[in-house]
Amino acid sequence: MAQISNPLPTADLQALDAAHHMHPFTHGAALGAKGARIITRAEGCWLTDSEGNRILDGMAGLWCVNLGYGRQELVDAATRQMSELPFYNTFFQTSHAPAIQLAARLAELAPGDLNHVFFAGSGSEANDTNLRMVRTYWELKGQPARKAVISRWNAYHGSSVGSGSLGGMKGMHAQGGMPIPDIHHIDQPNWWAEGGDLSPEEFGLERAKQLEAKIQELGPENVAAFIAEPLQGAGGVIVPPESYWPEVMRIVREYGILLIADEVICGFGRTGNWFGSQTLGIQPDIMTIAKGLSSGYLPIGGSIVSSEIARVIGDAEFNHGYTYSGHPVAAAVALENLRILDEEGIITRVREEIGPYLKEKFESLTEHPMVGEASIVGMMGSIALTPDKARRAAFRGEEGQIGLMTRERCFANNLVMRHVGDRMIISPPLVISKDEVDVLIARAWKSLDEAMAQAK
Ligand code: PLP
Repeated sequence: MAQISNPLPTADLQALDAAHHMHPFTHGAALGAKGARIITRAEGCWLTDSEGNRILDGMAGLWCVNLGYGRQELVDAATRQMSELPFYNTFFQTSHAPAIQLAARLAELAPGDLNHVFFAGSGSEANDTNLRMVRTYWELKGQPARKAVISRWNAYHGSSVGSGSLGGMKGMHAQGGMPIPDIHHIDQPNWWAEGGDLSPEEFGLERAKQLEAKIQELGPENVAAFIAEPLQGAGGVIVPPESYWPEVMRIVREYGILLIADEVICGFGRTGNWFGSQTLGIQPDIMTIAKGLSSGYLPIGGSIVSSEIARVIGDAEFNHGYTYSGHPVAAAVALENLRILDEEGIITRVREEIGPYLKEKFESLTEHPMVGEASIVGMMGSIALTPDKARRAAFRGEEGQIGLMTRERCFANNLVMRHVGDRMIISPPLVISKDEVDVLIARAWKSLDEAMAQAK
């Protein structure tokens, strides 16, 4: 394979980066002070930086490189498609084979009667589609008052104005005029942080019933949809109590509210099934997809919708679309990615072999003095850092300081593990080996020790 060398020395790249490149979710001053770590190559679960360090990627990039790095088949699929048809759009009654085949394959894989796909370039765009689609659906059904969409605090649904409003990240809402009107939030099912004296099951029911209360407060005739991630990802890998989703399902059905499951992280094997909805027993009307759809090799997202929604929307012209909706090269790569996930039995391995192995090892981190609980489903998990396990106490001072310290120690120990407040999260490539899981756990433990020593 051709060696792609760094065009410039690390310090020069860092200086140019700080001078000209604006990074997502990054404090500008931090970049200037320390300089970004420059990643140059990757293979399997391992990143290489410009200094030659090999780093274990415990986050699969941004929860997306499900197949791991360096799969030549995906490169070949992109190359073939680029030479044949690098771009054509799917507007105004035109189409092409990659988008058609990908839509048909997704219809096969998706549960229930979710069998139509509207493509987008990302998860954020797909959630913007969903927002317009559910409102348009109700308008076409003669119920135009149904505009309200209910979501949850600490949910993440993207960074555009629509999807950022759907999300429940207060730090994001504080900037740039979000949320837009007619979006409402209820509390999240985070028992560890918010469960008080309730048992997890009581708490799960209580949080689900907030949805019913919100629907009644708004008037059911005004509510279009409820949107939720099967398991919150960017909010800290929050695994809801078992009582939560069955009660949510009862409520959305009873009030005739559409359910949007945001599968951007949970989809494509991450929870041990094709979709998180299957793992958690959810029957959505729409699923948002992105990330693992192409293992992040190219940007692509979409909405998989029920035949009923597709029928109603199809009765009019839906004035909505993106230049890159169903981009042929991204679609060809996604199709190849789905083929490999299927033919190599990668999702079955998550469910039956590597997932249970990771769970056992990850849960052993609760023996560390600073780790309260471990939550893990399939290949996404989090640990809660605490100074007092019995009381499920938070650290004094600003939330997230210990988490940040631990993340920095992980990075110094050549492990990518992210923090959300004082929760540390993992979401490794699905192809991680048992030996690599052992390395991940050993490095995490060492980093926890170092952060604890530093905090004293
Ligand atoms: N929805 C969920 C659940 C996500 O985790 C993300 C991204 O992390 C998004 C939507 C937004 O996707 P994108 O960054 O591709 O716009």
